[in-house]
Amino acid sequence: MIFKSINPFSQEVIAEHEILTNAQINQKLHISETAFQKWKTTSFQERADKMQKLAHILRVNKVKLGMLITNEMGKILSESIAEVEKSAENCDFYSEHAEQMLKEEIYDTPFKSMSVYDPLGAVFAIMPWNYPFWQVLRYAAPAIMAGNVTLLKHAPNVIGCAKAIENAFLEAGFPEGVFQQIVMDIPQVESVIAADIVCGVTLTGSEMAGSSVASLAGKHIKKSVMELGGSDAFIVLNDANLENAVTIATQSRMLNAGQACICAKRFIVTEKVADEFAALFAQKIQSIQQGNPLQQGIQMGPLARLDIANKLADQLEKSLHQGAKLIVGGEREDCNFQPTLIDFVDSNNIAFQEETFGPLATIIRAKDENDAIAIANNHRYGLAASLWTEDREKGLQLARKIEAGNVFVNSLVRSDSRIPFGGIKKSGYGRELGAIGIKEFMNMKSVIIQ
Ligand code: NDP
Repeated sequence: MIFKSINPFSQEVIAEHEILTNAQINQKLHISETAFQKWKTTSFQERADKMQKLAHILRVNKVKLGMLITNEMGKILSESIAEVEKSAENCDFYSEHAEQMLKEEIYDTPFKSMSVYDPLGAVFAIMPWNYPFWQVLRYAAPAIMAGNVTLLKHAPNVIGCAKAIENAFLEAGFPEGVFQQIVMDIPQVESVIAADIVCGVTLTGSEMAGSSVASLAGKHIKKSVMELGGSDAFIVLNDANLENAVTIATQSRMLNAGQACICAKRFIVTEKVADEFAALFAQKIQSIQQGNPLQQGIQMGPLARLDIANKLADQLEKSLHQGAKLIVGGEREDCNFQPTLIDFVDSNNIAFQEETFGPLATIIRAKDENDAIAIANNHRYGLAASLWTEDREKGLQLARKIEAGNVFVNSLVRSDSRIPFGGIKKSGYGRELGAIGIKEFMNMKSVIIQ
């Protein structure tokens, strides 16, 4: 069996990748086991040297790797290159800070007591196609700096990226088996989760995929981290700086052609400023240049797969039928979906209730700030939110009332190596990044000495 990689802009088949047999996957697990026994004994310095080399390799090859990302999943080249650079920064960050983050913690007891952090084995990662480098390096750099090894099942349309990342690890001097990617199909996932060497599973993707993988992790008593969907609120209050808010709103909804878990998806605007916000937002959205993602000046490429564009078109059609008003866009051809704005959306509308994975912005009008927060919280997802007010003190108070894993006041929601990232509700559980991210798959061992 093979996976076909299709360029979403040209619709040409660009590569075919053979799915491994069960016996080949067992062999990979065996290699992981052997690698872990040695890797867990290496010093932080040795790991850091290799991690910095990896960052260097990513930077030197950022254009080539960026083109690979663009050809496989369609984001514009400048965003692909920026993604490779951000992945390199994450390698640097954990190479510098892992040792300090994993220092033993001493407790105030009459006897000597402490917690130490031991690596546990292989972290199994199931990753999506929307940030094919960043999402991998985001979990892999801390896991490997901590002394774990890892196995990656990447999405079928970005296997070229998975192989390029594996090659970069080998070129950086990591021993065979520290980072392995496996071309595998869904029915093969359980046997990997069940393997003794696998200490846990981390998944970024849809709620359905998360529910299935979390169940398997539970069945085999393995820890899991779930970074799932989102329908992030972008709340604009009466006293917001509307120019800034609209600029960031456009960026937040349209980056990566709207295909990010942390894209703002519901623009909740208080009535007093809603007309002005809608007019400015429509202008910005209309000016986006769409086309060949490899071409300079183009601001948005195609969606990554035809089925994703079909799903978004279906959501748009249903939401208009339910009473939303089309302001801008709405057309599509194959994977190319026009940046679209709809207004007068309410909580019964499908574009409010479901995750919309593409360039579709929805405006929901709120009576006042309390109503805006209530609308934001009236959702199954709780990944992130952005709140716009010139009163920073009020911003902080309202941030505490928002049901989400991350709240940004007057700025773009984005992940940052230094700051923990993750969701609540159906957006998942566990945290990536920061000091807590590196500890998710460790044995926090209490040691007491009398
Ligand atoms: P999926 O969640 O289906 O895919 C993400 C990863 O999970 C892929 O590697 C996929 O592999 C794997 N996967 C899916 N189902 C299972 C399963 N039952 N067991 C094990 N692994 C599984 O996303 P899609 O690419 O199909 O996109 C569908 C929708 O999901 C999007 O429209 C969007 O709404 C949401 N999504 C959200 C993301 C986010 O960052 N929040 C990222 C990607 C998607 P395979 O492709 O082989 O099934």
